Amino acid sequence: MINIDGKTKLYAVLGSPISHSLSPLLHNTAFEYLELNSCYVAFQVEAKEMKEALGAVKCLGIGGVNLTHPLKEVAQPYLDQIDEKARLVGAVNTVVNREGNLVGYNTDVEGFRWSLLEEAGWDRTDSPVVMIGAGGAARAVAVSLAETGVSSIKIHNRTSENATEILDMLSQRYGVNGEVFPLEKDALAASIKNTSLLVNTLPMDPMDADGKPFYKNLRHLEETTVYDLRYSPPVPTFLDWARQAGARTFNGLGMLMAQAAEALEYFTNRQAPRELMLKKAREYSE
Ligand code: NDP
Repeated sequence: MINIDGKTKLYAVLGSPISHSLSPLLHNTAFEYLELNSCYVAFQVEAKEMKEALGAVKCLGIGGVNLTHPLKEVAQPYLDQIDEKARLVGAVNTVVNREGNLVGYNTDVEGFRWSLLEEAGWDRTDSPVVMIGAGGAARAVAVSLAETGVSSIKIHNRTSENATEILDMLSQRYGVNGEVFPLEKDALAASIKNTSLLVNTLPMDPMDADGKPFYKNLRHLEETTVYDLRYSPPVPTFLDWARQAGARTFNGLGMLMAQAAEALEYFTNRQAPRELMLKKAREYSE
């Protein structure tokens, strides 16, 4: 435990709801390991309070903040500078206070890359990747996959326009080939036949339009890595199904840890203890 004094540097995660956040655990674990006189807390902030909250970061000399739902997409107008990746994703999850200049980053991109390559050991960038969902998190995953060298991405989503928008951006910026498919079990069964990676980015288990989960009908995933961005419960139903179908499965805890690790590196210019942070997060969530 640090001894809080007049020199303690404050960091925080802002969002709503926020009391369940693992970010204070992850960052304070790293601060303690690195012996930094720093402390990380959580503040409940609504989207309409974004301007005032970022004003307070400057005014109080808070070293930096992470942004979570519903703030990632509303911070940009109140920042002094925005990193290229955050601009591409259209979302900021990390704000660094550089002597009164607020600089926005997106570390979800690196979070997913680390988890997929280092934690899951996936390296089949030559094969098409199948994604389910086209929301905010999906944009970060899509940019991450493109930066990793994936050249073909299929997206299944309820609203085709949202998937098309992501794929257009990937095509223009990275030359990625993309295809859009409906969120429907037969279409997904056909897509996953030739993939080595299936990523669920929905905040729920995938369902048909009639509200029935369709994952039970899919089989033979022995050659496939299946990733779900959710981590609570540790094995979402979708991953449980994928395991039963033979897949290697990963939840989003590694991504959560690695986005926090990169944010901490922006905050402190020190290397984050990733393995320790992941161990702590796993202990807490299991
Ligand atoms: P969003 O709310 O932006 O997700 C939107 C997506 O969900 C869209 O594809 C949307 O489809 C789809 N969707 C919403 N409701 C329905 C429905 N009733 N039927 C079908 N599709 C639906 O969430 P995020 O992208 O911000 O987050 C997604 C998940 O990822 C969350 O569980 C979040 O906690 C997790 N996450 C994990 C992270 C980590 O570090 N592990 C980081 C970030 C997020 P449509 O386009 O048709 O509206």
